[in-house]
Amino acid sequence: MESARGESNPENFVIFVLTKKTIYHVRKKITKVSSDKASNNGSSEPWKPTADNKSKAVTFRVIAAIAWLVAIGFEIWGILKLRGGDVQENGMTMLIVLIVIALIFAVAGNLLWKKANRLDPASIKEKFKFWVQNQLGAIISAIAFLPLVILILADKNIDKKQKGILGAIAGAALLIGVGTGIDFNPPSVEQYTEETRVVETLTGQDFVYWTKSGKKYHLYNTCGYINSDRTDEIFEGTVGNAKSMKKISELCSRCKGQAEKENSIDLEEAMEELPEGESEAAG
Ligand SMILES: [Zn+2]
Repeated sequence: MESARGESNPENFVIFVLTKKTIYHVRKKITKVSSDKASNNGSSEPWKPTADNKSKAVTFRVIAAIAWLVAIGFEIWGILKLRGGDVQENGMTMLIVLIVIALIFAVAGNLLWKKANRLDPASIKEKFKFWVQNQLGAIISAIAFLPLVILILADKNIDKKQKGILGAIAGAALLIGVGTGIDFNPPSVEQYTEETRVVETLTGQDFVYWTKSGKKYHLYNTCGYINSDRTDEIFEGTVGNAKSMKKISELCSRCKGQAEKENSIDLEEAMEELPEGESEAAG
């Protein structure tokens, strides 16, 4: 992490203030996300996560799995309480607390799991594995909350009002758990490979810029979309870094157009000339 600002030094501060208006656009905090340059430059090899991101993904997945186990543990505890007649004896509070705790752990697991998938995505070549890996949070959440919802609705020992309240709470937990577990736009190795290749074709290297709030990555740090007064920090790194940081969807169209013009490249033509890596490469 490097700061380009010099305002901490009093002398610099005066200069900074005086020149801020005119040179503000180049005085951004630049955050290097990775010093790794493209390892598979221009080749047809599928995209691979860096060793660092791979190990981060493993860590996130392990923590997610533990969080899910804890969630299911609290669900089972809740079921035992319900079956044991605790709701009739002591009211609904304990069961509601158990459901809420289970939900917190389930959602934490879901978010970590999706983050791990962005760091180390699955391949769409194995369709079933791809689906399971990307939607695992939703599957686990269904396992965690659906039995509880059914058992509450089928319980003959609690009264109608209790059934209504507990059913609604467990039902909401089911929806929130499954909702946060679903990945509507699952990342894939093929998508990362393709997007990296586009950037390499346009600029000759796998190197892009993005901001905290933006949904796109850029080829030029001078691009008007990221180099505005609203931005004070620009991140730089590979396409894979950009996509793993958060849900950054695609390449900025303005940057793409500029690169095509500057380098006299017709992207569609250039991409057709490249070997089709992901569809021909063996397993
Ligand atoms: Zn741009």
